[in-house]
Amino acid sequence: AAKTSGNEAVVYAPAIDKSSQESLSLLTELRRAAEENQFRLYVQPKVRLGTGQVIGVEALVRWVHPERGMVFPDQFIPFAEKTGFIRILTQWMLERSAALCSELAAGGIRLRISANLSTRDLLDQDLPMKFMAILDRHSLHPSSFCLEITESAIMDDPVRAQQTLERLHAIGVDLSIDDFGTGYSSLAYLKRLPVHELKIDKSFVLKMESDVDDTKIVRSTIDLGHNMGLKVVAEGIETVAAWELLEKMGCDEGQGYFISRPMPADQLRAWLHAWQP
Ligand code: C2E
Ligand code: CA
Ligand code: CA
Ligand code: CA
Repeated sequence: AAKTSGNEAVVYAPAIDKSSQESLSLLTELRRAAEENQFRLYVQPKVRLGTGQVIGVEALVRWVHPERGMVFPDQFIPFAEKTGFIRILTQWMLERSAALCSELAAGGIRLRISANLSTRDLLDQDLPMKFMAILDRHSLHPSSFCLEITESAIMDDPVRAQQTLERLHAIGVDLSIDDFGTGYSSLAYLKRLPVHELKIDKSFVLKMESDVDDTKIVRSTIDLGHNMGLKVVAEGIETVAAWELLEKMGCDEGQGYFISRPMPADQLRAWLHAWQP
């Protein structure tokens, strides 16, 4: 520890102790959550904008905490990422998603699952192997999955990220750049990555109707994606107007509350049955 005056040590030490103790207990709670099955797989449908056909779902985690109730990912993913716990969570999500995908396939429903990877996952040299083992266990083709990676996760360690992405691509899984437009990645760099899809960040889509600049950003992102040979997906579609505008601008696919909020995986079948574009 750094040398401090007696007074400073007395003043600051308790605060530091407290925060590290809090972190420790959150980590303990996350580990317990995994053991006691408190995580839930939620899914949000993804549709083709031209037809409304459902082509897949995005897998999103929820934590049902015994005292705090539903905890949203923004409240624990960053921490899970910092501590490395995310690898356990990612593994769990991929496993559950694969199980869902093969259950649906057995019932004649073919949907592609989009799962989220984080920075730490991209640095995990074993991830491609672990992913293949999961596909194997559930007799799934790699094309049943799309893996979403944010720009910032890629830019954290571009060299290693590229290696992992190349290996995942070699397996045959599609890759998507999530939250596109919010990071600092250069296009020249993104162009070298084996990605198939761009996801326009919902912040732009949500403001489209009230801000012409956001409409312009969305329009140029769609054109840019298409010029790079990529499929373009919009998230945050909350109104019929947003859907129509995006469709008119040539956006391929979309997700959002207007179509459906994320729902527990076991409600998907009933939702699909009732869905009429
Ligand atoms: P994301 O990957 O960008 O996921 C989209 C988020 O937007 C989800 O929030 C979704 O519920 C929300 N959303 C979807 N449609 C709309 C809409 O029309 N309007 C609005 N306002 N929001 C909409 P969620 O589920 O709270 O997840 C937040 C973030 O947490 C995700 O952002 C993702 O980065 C992360 N996350 C969630 N699940 C996982 C996971 O299993 N693994 C990892 N690594 N990250 C995850
Ligand atoms: Ca995502
Ligand atoms: Ca996103
Ligand atoms: Ca996001």
